[in-house]
Amino acid sequence: MKEQYEKPDAAKETEKGVAAKGGVFRTQGELAAYQEALAGWFRFCGRDYPWRRTCDPYAILVSETMLQQTQIATVLGRGYYSRWMEVFPHWEALAAAREEEVLKLWEGLGYYNRARNLQKVATIVIRDHGGRLPGDLESLLALPGVGRYTAGAVMSFAFNTSAPIVDGNVSRFFSRLFACEVPVDTPEGSRLAWARAEALTPLLEPRTYNSAVMELGQRICTRTSPDCPACPVEAWCEGRRRGEEARFPIRKGRPQVTPREEHVILAVREGKVLLCPESGTRRKGLWRLPEAGEEAAADLEEVVCFDYAITRYRVRLRVFLAVAGSVIEAGGGGARWFALAREDELPPLGSPYRKALRLFAEIREDLKELR
Ligand code: SF4
Repeated sequence: MKEQYEKPDAAKETEKGVAAKGGVFRTQGELAAYQEALAGWFRFCGRDYPWRRTCDPYAILVSETMLQQTQIATVLGRGYYSRWMEVFPHWEALAAAREEEVLKLWEGLGYYNRARNLQKVATIVIRDHGGRLPGDLESLLALPGVGRYTAGAVMSFAFNTSAPIVDGNVSRFFSRLFACEVPVDTPEGSRLAWARAEALTPLLEPRTYNSAVMELGQRICTRTSPDCPACPVEAWCEGRRRGEEARFPIRKGRPQVTPREEHVILAVREGKVLLCPESGTRRKGLWRLPEAGEEAAADLEEVVCFDYAITRYRVRLRVFLAVAGSVIEAGGGGARWFALAREDELPPLGSPYRKALRLFAEIREDLKELR
């Protein structure tokens, strides 16, 4: 067995530039060499993640759901995946949990509907599928929160079935590989990327191929500086052949970010903080700091201020301190006092409010006399 990764001969011998005209490889042989180059690279250089050591469909769906809008470093480094698998190791445990427990474990990952949907899937898997996640595209797409990407990931990583997957990394990689002039952020660009993924995914060992494509996009064909000399498929890359890899992907343009301000009250009394339940379906089950009207905020001291992003908004969160005797009736119906000292005893909180409490805790030594 070789001890070091070497670019395969097949790639070196292939005449550059012949492969990617019109969005397809010209011969089955070229396509097979490209697929093998990727798979060979991944066998040597692929990273070892916990979800890559298992074919358990439950574990794969949990990891894919967590990774939908969150970086690997957060999911792994901050222990979200391992904690989740410890507390809810299988469908039964997740289906039986209280929603509050589920949201608490998800706290900090954001996009809480992902957690709620996972729990709904657990219920459906037990009720309708005898405790086993179905492995076909149609049944997977019928599950809450499972879109085309997640279905493809589960099919290839759990069942080793040939299914295309396209995320932002894969789409960028294809865009350079095919020197695609169609903007990636348009319906036509998306359709093209999926069509290419479908045409290029092999029938044999799609798990390895799809893992390789994903990882290549993450680590080698990166957004700002593609490392082409280290790329196992450089020989087939039309963008590279033209010396224009950095020009791709073409984008139509990003929607404008709208600035907004949000004022909240941090009401503290005897070591407790006042929180109120979120309204609306998106954050149902979560808690937050009470909103502060302009007038109420005007008389209070601002203790914390930071920006956070949500959808197309850049929100400046301004936190005003209210102590016993001042604005304590904030929060409206359902507001309750919770002990500040132990974070794990607080109810599930939206990320900005959790961050506000953490920042407040860092300065509360100075404010001790107020509590
Ligand atoms: S050769 Fe460069 S631009 Fe082309 S796929 Fe590889 S890393 Fe990306």
